[in-house]
Amino acid sequence: MIKELDTLKERISNAAEESGRSPEAIRLVAVGKTQPVERIREAITSGAEIIGENYIQEAREKFDQLVQMDVQWHFIGHLQRNKAKYAVRMFDLIHTVDSFRLARELDRQARNVNKIQPILVQVNISGEQTKSGVGEMQAVELIESVLGMENLRLEGLMTMPPFFDAPEKARPFFVALRQLRDRLVRELKIELKELSMGMTGDFEVAIEEGATLVRIGTALFGARQ
Ligand SMILES: *Cc1c(COP(=O)(O)O)cnc(C)c1O
Repeated sequence: MIKELDTLKERISNAAEESGRSPEAIRLVAVGKTQPVERIREAITSGAEIIGENYIQEAREKFDQLVQMDVQWHFIGHLQRNKAKYAVRMFDLIHTVDSFRLARELDRQARNVNKIQPILVQVNISGEQTKSGVGEMQAVELIESVLGMENLRLEGLMTMPPFFDAPEKARPFFVALRQLRDRLVRELKIELKELSMGMTGDFEVAIEEGATLVRIGTALFGARQ
């Protein structure tokens, strides 16, 4: 695991340097979905600083067993409103806020536990029906609502491009997310420092286009069952 993690960190650094960015500007989210708790523990002791999880129930089991460990937890899966309470308890950053109703419920749950919950808005840049995320046109409206919610703190945007065999094909979607971010920053006069984009197959391209959080499972843990 140390070897995989070192290799990955080096690839991240190289991609950053080749595009004139500082490697410190990019954080690795080690995606632990379907991996047993012992593999997650191993990743943390090998130096992973952020664990990403997709499913609340699975995350709760891991979180309870690893709660003593010095690591951040990020939620990257589709979040149902009735699980918002658990998400707020566990996660340092929720990447996948994609509706007003979900945002409002997270805000309410965060207020209950006196927390300011950092979030990202997930944007469906490709417009594919099967992908979750708010449409580009609706993003402004959702973000304006979120800015009015006292217990949420919007830190940036997240996207999942369609699955392609070649990473270059994902590039236009990463560019589009960055351009949307730049436009929102200009028009709403807000700060949006995080761009969560890039996975095992395409993270180098995502870094070239401005990713600050790359979500990587397979390159670290191997193929999922
Ligand atoms: C599973 C998953 C990842 C990691 O995918 P890999 O290809 O294994 O790196 C990243 N982001 C999300 C939202 C995921 O569900």
